[in-house]
Amino acid sequence: MDGVLISVLVLAAIVAAVAAYLLPALIASWRDHPQERRIMWINLLARWTGFGWLAAVLWAVAYFPPPVPRVRGDHTDEEILQRSLRACPMCLEEIKVEARRCRHCGADVGQVSA
Ligand SMILES: [Zn+2]
Repeated sequence: MDGVLISVLVLAAIVAAVAAYLLPALIASWRDHPQERRIMWINLLARWTGFGWLAAVLWAVAYFPPPVPRVRGDHTDEEILQRSLRACPMCLEEIKVEARRCRHCGADVGQVSA
């Protein structure tokens, strides 16, 4: 009984040690880091320095993927925003399509029919 428990604890310690060793590569992989392979190599080659491991962890964590444009129906939010704006004929600043008066120059801009 004690022998089994010790074996399980040793095995768990080995798994935890390997996971800690490979933490930077695992983080990079989970986060789909574009430099995943470089981080993995730094992880493997420079781990023993301690600093290499820390640098690899920081590199893996310090990546923020570009936001995926939200899509409503067939259009992204940006397309919807651009469609709802037009240029003021007097000052060329962006104003809403439905605007009757420019909020920048105060000109009466009427309403454009689409
Ligand atoms: Zn204007």
